[in-house]
Amino acid sequence: MSDQSPLMAAATAQYDAYRLDELPRALQRDSLDYYYLSVYPSLAEMRVFGPGDGPPYPATVANAYIHVPFCSGVCDFCSYYLVAVNPQRRAAIRRYLEQLKAEFDFHAHHTTLDITYLYFGGGTPSLIPPDALDGLLSFLSDRRYLNRGALGTLELHPEFFADEAAATRFLDTLKHYGIGRVSVGYQVSDETLLRDTKRRHAASFLNKAMALLRARGFLVNLDLMYGLAGQSLGSWETTLADAIAFAPDSISTYFLFVNQGTGLHERVRRGRVSLPAHRHLQTQHIMAQLALSAAGYHELPNDFWARGTGDPATFRPERLPSATVTLPTGPGAYGYYGHTQLANVFDLAEYERRMADGRSPLWRGRHLSAEESLHRDVMFSLKNDPFIDCSLFRTAYNTGPLERFPAIFEKLVALDLVEVSGERIYLTPKGRLGVEEIAGLFRHPAIRAVEDEPGATALLAKHNFAPTYPSVVW
Ligand code: SF4
Repeated sequence: MSDQSPLMAAATAQYDAYRLDELPRALQRDSLDYYYLSVYPSLAEMRVFGPGDGPPYPATVANAYIHVPFCSGVCDFCSYYLVAVNPQRRAAIRRYLEQLKAEFDFHAHHTTLDITYLYFGGGTPSLIPPDALDGLLSFLSDRRYLNRGALGTLELHPEFFADEAAATRFLDTLKHYGIGRVSVGYQVSDETLLRDTKRRHAASFLNKAMALLRARGFLVNLDLMYGLAGQSLGSWETTLADAIAFAPDSISTYFLFVNQGTGLHERVRRGRVSLPAHRHLQTQHIMAQLALSAAGYHELPNDFWARGTGDPATFRPERLPSATVTLPTGPGAYGYYGHTQLANVFDLAEYERRMADGRSPLWRGRHLSAEESLHRDVMFSLKNDPFIDCSLFRTAYNTGPLERFPAIFEKLVALDLVEVSGERIYLTPKGRLGVEEIAGLFRHPAIRAVEDEPGATALLAKHNFAPTYPSVVW
């Protein structure tokens, strides 16, 4: 008799019905050769900027990303830019926030900061002491860099909830400045996996955490992870059920990938850990599709599930991705403006020197031609929007994705990965299982890794490698 649950059995049957084993190799997900699409061109494909090399500033900046490059330790799989600090001694974070204020003043000499959406990522933004958070947000508000009606999101590590009094002060400060959405790094329910991945927390925090957040009216996103070494289908089903039971407003399901330079990559290289097969990890993704849609969540291609009114899965894209300005702030931050993908320095000490000298924190960037920008817009529309709106492309580029890439779309339709309805191109549920791999088909052939600074190779491989799978697969 099978020991599969009904959910596992349904997902296994769906995997076979989708014939995922028959997809071209480049469209099959691979933990060791996967590019999480949030930046394109990749860090390795941007060139190093000299003084004054950055793009012209936009007239106004409405979106800013703040990278908080500190964590209480390093998770085994993590490839973000960060510095490990003792959470009891956070002087370095306080000093960093003073430099961050200097960075905002620097930008304000070149553009109007009227920030309506502020995203705190990391690293661990919830390591910021509550009074220092208040100091930063009051500074941004007093200088009128932060719009009075601003909204925002901040990422919370589970360890944040250990000190309830400090957590309450922190959350009240966020709310006071309009930052009413948090993303909680729950990851998995399985304590063995949490230990193996060096996450530094148990799963039991969530009960208290949700009560605290709900009492203050926060919108809550839960981050979950699948594709972990040793994560059985049963373990993943438990994580999904536990997350659903708390009824968060949204859920992000992240596929674990393995970048060079991480502890996990080293363990894989030494043969100490085996990564899951394609069948296993995609069955996990299908289990998420089945369980979360049954619980009333709608899937967007970017690993994101939302429910209720204002469901982003029903939004009509209002602009192309290239029309959105994001100001990167802090070391390790990415941004985009002036048709240029940008990255700040990935070095806290260098960032400190630049802020002390009143110099730009930009390290690298890649300005895109109109043709390259069209490719990037197709990639990010696939990844982040409920559908590609061809009319937006026609207005901006005088051509649409179907006319520009007829052979690729014909093949994607034949493989049941996308469907076309009038002016809209949708990823099918099957297509959403491989959004990055599909988006990778639209990479521009002229965008390649550049000759680089001596010593940068390892850093680039760790923080934002480019995938090696071919861009043409048939
Ligand atoms: S995964 Fe998050 S908490 Fe873990 S080391 Fe990376 S940034 Fe820090």
